[in-house]
Amino acid sequence: MHPIYGGEKTPQELYDHLSQLDSGYTPEACAEYAEWIHDIKRLKQEHDAVILAHNYQRPEIFEVADFIGDSLELARQAKKVESDQVVFCGVHFMAETAKIVNPERTILLPDLKAGCSLAESITGEALAERKHELRRAYPDLQTICYVNTTADVKAECDACCTSSNAVQIVESLDTEHVLFVPDENLARYVQTQTTKTILSWEGNCYVHHQITPEHILSVRDNLPHVKVLVHPECREDVIQLADAVLSTSAMVRYAKDSPADEFLIVTECGLSDRLLLEIPEKKFYKSCQLCHYMKMITLDGVRDSLRAQRYEITLDEDIRVAAERAIDRMLELSA
Ligand code: SF4
Repeated sequence: MHPIYGGEKTPQELYDHLSQLDSGYTPEACAEYAEWIHDIKRLKQEHDAVILAHNYQRPEIFEVADFIGDSLELARQAKKVESDQVVFCGVHFMAETAKIVNPERTILLPDLKAGCSLAESITGEALAERKHELRRAYPDLQTICYVNTTADVKAECDACCTSSNAVQIVESLDTEHVLFVPDENLARYVQTQTTKTILSWEGNCYVHHQITPEHILSVRDNLPHVKVLVHPECREDVIQLADAVLSTSAMVRYAKDSPADEFLIVTECGLSDRLLLEIPEKKFYKSCQLCHYMKMITLDGVRDSLRAQRYEITLDEDIRVAAERAIDRMLELSA
């Protein structure tokens, strides 16, 4: 965990910290947040809970998180948790993934409406039908699903992947034909990195899909030296303008390690906020969009989740076991 998070900040310290972001934080709001943060820390101890937070969460959520990361890092962390409970600050499929890999723990998601346009683009049943049809033409077909899927979809797959290991997982499977679901943009990007045949699904992340080349060019025309970091869920014409195509946590590492000082961050806005707070000596320009699902998780929602012990993630055990196989395969192949 980065040293700027955690600890217990006074309302003024919290305001000084968050108002570095151009996001409209006020002293009054920060005073309320400081109270909620205090309550959450107490409730965490009372319930032996840890908080895992995705990079796209609100900056004030980072203050109560025990770990912040991308989907792959969060899946790894969730598997290692020994506390009784995990409060997952992310979207539904991420909390489900935590339950899949660590079924003994209670997994709480503060808001059940925190879904995902990508995960909703596919069901286990539809995938089973598509696999059946394609196997007639490609008997060696194997199926990889992006981790942004529900448990019943994962249960139909040979392996999962995340944006940070998609190419590696495709390359490590012993097959020439891969059905890659559900993100068509990520599938297209993976196809540019492998000689295997990638068959895709019609799904996308609405956040990344709405970013256009004009968003990038409007910044780069004025700042030609800026390093453009693009998430692989973006459209092909946006990826073509990238200096580097990276998962969110890889963007954090790249920005920290690079000799460059100025970056254009092309993904959900939460990641740009994290970079602005953690690396204040460098400049970050945003060409980002907000994910309204991710932003459904709020500090008072986390407090209420711990207080009322809601909303617990439960799974059918057969589906959980089959989904775990696909996640474990990913963790093995990307170790
Ligand atoms: S950013 Fe996109 S992929 Fe991530 S949760 Fe939001 S809609 Fe889903």
